[in-house]
Amino acid sequence: MPLERVISPELIDKLTCTRELDLGGMIRNLSLPKTSPIRERSAISSMGRMDILPAELVLFILHLLDFQALSRLLRVSRKAKTTVEALVAYRELREHAPDVLVALGKTRLLPYHSAALLRQTLRANRCVSCLVDFGAFLFLPTCERVCFECLHQNHSLRMTTLSIARECFHLTDSHLKTLPILHSIPGTYGVMFRISRRKVYRLVSVKQVKQLAIDVHGSTENVANLMPTSPPQGMTWRKSCIFKWFHEAPLEPPGCDLSRMPERSNLVEDDFGGMASIRMPCLSGTGADYGRLCKGCRLVNELHSRGLLPADVLEHLVPRGIRPSRPLRALTTRLYSREGFVEHIKTCYGANELITGWETEQME
Ligand SMILES: [Zn+2]
Ligand SMILES: [Zn+2]
Repeated sequence: MPLERVISPELIDKLTCTRELDLGGMIRNLSLPKTSPIRERSAISSMGRMDILPAELVLFILHLLDFQALSRLLRVSRKAKTTVEALVAYRELREHAPDVLVALGKTRLLPYHSAALLRQTLRANRCVSCLVDFGAFLFLPTCERVCFECLHQNHSLRMTTLSIARECFHLTDSHLKTLPILHSIPGTYGVMFRISRRKVYRLVSVKQVKQLAIDVHGSTENVANLMPTSPPQGMTWRKSCIFKWFHEAPLEPPGCDLSRMPERSNLVEDDFGGMASIRMPCLSGTGADYGRLCKGCRLVNELHSRGLLPADVLEHLVPRGIRPSRPLRALTTRLYSREGFVEHIKTCYGANELITGWETEQME
């Protein structure tokens, strides 16, 4: 039932969850570097051979460079520093997503994405997998925006070790060298399941490995034939499940809310969940938007677990034949953009309940 109320900024803040505990298992708390001054001896005002190019062409070229190349270039001379710092992509990323640059640097993925691509992703907002939700996280190896639920459910957004990738898709080390290889940052992580990883792992994205396997082996059918029909002797059940899921990982976006799809059996926990993703704000004309979680949705989940959610509300939120716990739990990790949140709370049962409760309190 749509609300006829005025949705003020105060109300929006009041309905926003400030505790985002479930979302905390990504790359986080990185220390940001201070900007390095250029050395005195580099105080020449030249960019070498680039000086002969028109300014627009220089800017065009710089946008195609990655941030590692740009940060090297800006140490060359005063002119290079001024030119790089004037670059829109450079300014926007440094100002709004400096931790993303640090994460890409620490995981050694910085050279794989151009400044132009990073800026384009900073200004995008949808998840590339469900195509519906606000993509509040950057998936580092592919430089794409993803939502929490897709990170959890879409196996193409998982990371795996080089040895699993080799074995699962019959690839060699020289094949894998052509992919972005993420060097993990030790720490605790988790997308739904908490993990602690003390050493540095070299990881590749399942989506990129599977695409590589298709290129190497010639076709999707050839790759599918690599999957043994029964687990090879000596292979653990868990590992055979991992192989199966990686083979079945979709290369095309599923384009739907995966929490509302039928449950699949033999799912295995993600060994590296959260280790290749980081929160990234979406930059638009109205500023940087990190996304908001809805308090009302949390209430819906609580009411359901206490058996107090009205049947018609449940029917609306959960497709027929689906166990309610998955889609209702997914509500509690769904982030909304600023505009998306305003639209959402107009129809959110939990938000409506909270607002009605607050209004009643005020009248008393
Ligand atoms: Zn998604
Ligand atoms: Zn809600």
